[in-house]
Amino acid sequence: MIQFNVYPGGVRRIVTFSYDDGHENDARLIELFNKYGVKATFHLNGIKYLGMSDAETEAVRKLYLGHEISCHTLRHGKPANMADVSVVNETLEDRKILERIAGYPVVGMSYPSGSFSKRVIEILSACGIVYSRTTLATQKFSLPENFLTWHPTCHHRDALPLCPKFMESLDSEWTSPLFYIWGHAHELRTPDDWAYMEEIIKSLAGSDKIWYATNIEFYDYKTAQRALRISADEKILFNPTAIDVWVEKDKVDVIRIPAGQTVYL
Ligand SMILES: [Zn+2]
Repeated sequence: MIQFNVYPGGVRRIVTFSYDDGHENDARLIELFNKYGVKATFHLNGIKYLGMSDAETEAVRKLYLGHEISCHTLRHGKPANMADVSVVNETLEDRKILERIAGYPVVGMSYPSGSFSKRVIEILSACGIVYSRTTLATQKFSLPENFLTWHPTCHHRDALPLCPKFMESLDSEWTSPLFYIWGHAHELRTPDDWAYMEEIIKSLAGSDKIWYATNIEFYDYKTAQRALRISADEKILFNPTAIDVWVEKDKVDVIRIPAGQTVYL
């Protein structure tokens, strides 16, 4: 029996952060994330970066370096209220502006105001978006069933009480593995807000049993795991992707299948 419940390095837990709207507070928040070695995704509205000079663009790229730049539509309308053509334009124009900054294909997203529908999801998919986060907090550490309706664990205001629960059970096979915290940096206003945020990050940081990932790194890893080709007798595993993946065999062995290679068990 091959199971996909292991992550880079053979760890069994993942922590990811997700911040919307792009704000001057992002710089201070990124300093905190970097201080503790955790990763985040920043969902940005392209309109704020329209017409920037090359130097300004470079400054934004450097600010988010090491984390992920992701879509949040061009002008922060509500996708479920938009005409189809507007969903297309708001997504693709946002992508184009952000990709000029990031220097990589920007294919992640979070729904502005948490607004989505079945129709919106279909259009986003056609616009090359591979995942999009909702604002529907699960209060659980569950994996997304559908990456285009990726429900987070909680907003950061509700995160601190969940941290000990998550950290206490890092070895349990029965606990769901993903702690996904979202919020807005502009909600961090007072010294107490910042101290609270640092407490959350600090309490989750520094464990060699946790993979600290951006949203797209997690998406890419799960997609690579699912792309594994496994023989019918489960003894030949071929990884056709460019990402090393790990699997668990018979609930005992953790096996690494390097990118592009075949492993014979
Ligand atoms: Zn927003």
